[in-house]
Amino acid sequence: MPLTIRILGCSGGACGDLRSTALLLDDSTLVDCGTGVGDLSLEEMARIHDVFLTHSHLDHVLFLPLLSDAALALRDGPLTVHALPETLAALKIHLFNGVLWPDYTALPSPQSPCIRLQALALHETCELAHGRITALPALHAVPAVGYLIDSGRASFAFSGDTTDCAAFWDKLNEVENLQYVMVETTMRDADSGIAERSRHTTPALLARGVARLKKAVQLLVTHIEPDKVEAVRAEIRAALAGITPPIVPHFVMRGEVYEL
Ligand SMILES: [Zn+2]
Ligand SMILES: [Zn+2]
Repeated sequence: MPLTIRILGCSGGACGDLRSTALLLDDSTLVDCGTGVGDLSLEEMARIHDVFLTHSHLDHVLFLPLLSDAALALRDGPLTVHALPETLAALKIHLFNGVLWPDYTALPSPQSPCIRLQALALHETCELAHGRITALPALHAVPAVGYLIDSGRASFAFSGDTTDCAAFWDKLNEVENLQYVMVETTMRDADSGIAERSRHTTPALLARGVARLKKAVQLLVTHIEPDKVEAVRAEIRAALAGITPPIVPHFVMRGEVYEL
């Protein structure tokens, strides 16, 4: 069985047809829980048992409160949320705190809650139904990871939100079956000051990272700011043109499915 990755959301924002970050692995696991999850049916939501978060920012966790009780009666067992301890702490303190949303980590009862929080360490690997997922290094404004999704035949790397992170690219060079690398490029080079402060990637930083790769991959770009899409795409094409061998980026679209 191939491992399928369905792009539910891949925008740096959410408006019109654009949804914020969420990837559905097969039908039971999410990587991030942005607004793209809201397009799933109740039955599809009920089949999700695990959520791997890259970090605590709202565009990546926005749908978690609603998912946690959306299919309460249909889901057999709790929803397990895997993330860095700092990310889990942020969810407990700021989201599932009984004020913004009920504390579903202790409801309907502490013994049998809707959500189970499972701490994940950098480089830790968890088993999936048809493969494995491993936390990768990332550098963002809050503690963050990327993920490597490996079916055994091929691997798909996702940066999450990050600025240029040498450790991320170094790790990818160790992955023999690497096929896809999906990297955020949120802002234009003209916005590099904001990108530096918010620790996002610009086209110039993307090119710097890609130049570290020692193998041919399909480069996927995600998380572009909705009002800068065309400008960022043009800058990325120009920035990558200087790299040999040439690498042609693909700009990820909601609804795409990747098979590993
Ligand atoms: Zn972020
Ligand atoms: Zn984001």
